[in-house]
Amino acid sequence: MMPRSATSPTARSLAAKLAAFGREFHARRWALGTSGNYSVLLRRQPVRLLITSSGLDKSALRAGDFLEIDQEARVIRGRGRPSAESFLHLAVVRARKAGCVLHTHSIWSTLLSERHAEQGGLAISGYEMLKGLDGVGTHQHREWIPIFANDQDIPALSRKVEAELNRDPASHGFLLGGHGLYTWGEDLAGARRHVEIFEFLFEVAGRLAFGSPSA
Ligand SMILES: [Zn+2]
Repeated sequence: MMPRSATSPTARSLAAKLAAFGREFHARRWALGTSGNYSVLLRRQPVRLLITSSGLDKSALRAGDFLEIDQEARVIRGRGRPSAESFLHLAVVRARKAGCVLHTHSIWSTLLSERHAEQGGLAISGYEMLKGLDGVGTHQHREWIPIFANDQDIPALSRKVEAELNRDPASHGFLLGGHGLYTWGEDLAGARRHVEIFEFLFEVAGRLAFGSPSA
């Protein structure tokens, strides 16, 4: 069956909001060029995920640049093709109560993912901004952000990620080595806030680690 391009008004409105996030993240240098991908869950049973079509310039993302896919990343509606990284989005929505998954490629997340690769993750604690993460009520919280080696075999990588998310249900995000951040939220606003909080924390940790305390 040919994918249909018609989409519901709800999906169209969610796509417009995600497109605005994409343009904002590009402007804030968190996802330049064609990097990054963004999704929102339209239905959990069976899974219907609205996700960015692959290979688009994120500075000019529009509502029409999203596809509806099923749990196997097959296109249900929309034109274009889904990114291979759709499997990571699907792993997150299975393992978490996530309604929205956002993936960025910032400079600080890239540098830190390399710096902490051997430890398998990065711990951040002691910062007031941690309270912007869902369920965190004190700066004394210790957030463990697992780091997975980057891999072009995304289905294999997504199985590792899903296993770790199920093992540690407290995490709010993970890093791919030399690549970037995945984070999520129950809704669009929560996921966007997590990107902003993590990017702030990564910049602080990065400036401390790499000896660049000023902008
Ligand atoms: Zn990526």
